[in-house]
Amino acid sequence: KSFKELEIIDQLCETLETLKFHKPTPIQQASIPLALAGKDLIGLAETGSGKTAAFALPILQALYHSPHSTLFACILAPTRELAFQISEQTEAIGGSLGVKTCVIVGGMDMMPQAIALSKRPHIIVATPGRLLDHLENTKGFSLRSLKYLVMDEADRLLDLDFGPIIEKILKVLPSQRHTYLFSATMTDKVERLQRMSLTNPVRVAV
Ligand code: AMP
Repeated sequence: KSFKELEIIDQLCETLETLKFHKPTPIQQASIPLALAGKDLIGLAETGSGKTAAFALPILQALYHSPHSTLFACILAPTRELAFQISEQTEAIGGSLGVKTCVIVGGMDMMPQAIALSKRPHIIVATPGRLLDHLENTKGFSLRSLKYLVMDEADRLLDLDFGPIIEKILKVLPSQRHTYLFSATMTDKVERLQRMSLTNPVRVAV
């Protein structure tokens, strides 16, 4: 199927064409209809499979339908590099919708990040430790309005011992939200995180 046949809106389809995303990858084919139907997802997919667009497109499309939302989605990634890549790709695809993203990672000053958060981006891409730091220390910042949570490369997040930090973050998120967990492998730790954070998820593997 084409992106249009997967019910991606015309405006996003046009951007995808300019990015030379002519046809959905298998993980996109499998995830997008389920995500648009409101399901929580477990995506088993490697880097290079097109998993970023698989979770970004349903979020961007939901954002298109709720244009005045802020702090709409949060994407957790294990490394700074991955966080920046996700943010770039999300902005490239969502650019025509005027989507603002913000990258919140460790090893950089807190203050410019706090200022960026106060401008209420639509999408935050973060490493867990620094996000928790802002949740605990940045006045006026909360994720109470969050509609979508993504945990990307969950196996690596847990290998890097972000598990306890993610548990703390989960406690301050609204329970009424959509959650997507992507991982290259399904380990015991990933299954535990899944049970803790997803509601009746559908598993998608490619
Ligand atoms: P990812 O697995 O999300 O890291 O994506 C791997 C690469 O594939 C990225 O450089 C994307 O820009 C590209 N990509 C994602 N989806 C598509 C698609 N449907 N068609 C062509 N390229 C794509």
